[in-house]
Amino acid sequence: MLSLILSALISMQTVQTAAPQHRVEKVRDNIYCVFGPGGNVGLIVDNDYVVLIDGQYERSLPALLEAVKTISDKPIKYLINTHHHGDHVDANRALASQVEGIIAHTNVRSRMIKDQLNRTPDRQGGLPDILVGEADTKKLGMVTIVVGPTDVHIAHFGPAHTDADAAVGIPSARVIHMGDMLFLGRLPFIDVESGGNFDGLAQVIGSMLSWLPDDSLVIPGHGPICDKKELARHHSFLLAVQQHVRKNPKMSPKELADSFDKKPWEDKEPSPQFVTWETLFQAASGQGSGRVKS
Ligand SMILES: [Zn+2]
Repeated sequence: MLSLILSALISMQTVQTAAPQHRVEKVRDNIYCVFGPGGNVGLIVDNDYVVLIDGQYERSLPALLEAVKTISDKPIKYLINTHHHGDHVDANRALASQVEGIIAHTNVRSRMIKDQLNRTPDRQGGLPDILVGEADTKKLGMVTIVVGPTDVHIAHFGPAHTDADAAVGIPSARVIHMGDMLFLGRLPFIDVESGGNFDGLAQVIGSMLSWLPDDSLVIPGHGPICDKKELARHHSFLLAVQQHVRKNPKMSPKELADSFDKKPWEDKEPSPQFVTWETLFQAASGQGSGRVKS
């Protein structure tokens, strides 16, 4: 009996460790998305090299690179960071020695330096060295890299999820990676303590909708790939939250959350440990950090 239980346990363990950590999905043309632990990774493939958009965690990097190799065995030339959160930049240090440059908003670099101050030297490094925008986050900024025949725009539009967001646009493929300016399937996180701004996020997405082609495909920071219609729906959600706050200036975040009509937005799942309706309304009304504090 014991041996039966043991062998059942061992085979369960085998199944768990053998389960692939990452799933690769073709977005369009030479653009792919790798889903796994951490933020969604974008992959731009050229004949001679690839470009990675975010690298998730250092501990999951070997599995991520295995997934990338199923598409291309060429070297990674550039790593682009959409912002400074660990689930997007933790692998930077491990990737730094194999890429020609790490591209991000200038505030990603300064925030990473600050985050690394108390770390041992072996946990420091991997800082972006090709910088987009200026420390004054309200100033727009853009860097273009040319990947074979493909122009790739890395652009900052103002404070939104943080004060250091960059969207990565590939006009020839009509694809945009929005980093955490878009969460799908859950409530959005606005990192107020990192300069994020709810109204800024609504404005940035509204402006994107005015110039994105109708058949664009959108890679969110978390959640499935979507089309422009879904992005427009998400914008309507942000505007509904904003309107509710403006109509009720004296309400606390809890009162705002309790009185908001959530029915049309049931696909936006709260996460009790991270972002709840109440913390979302903290960010939207300027009354808190936007996330559950441990
Ligand atoms: Zn983030």
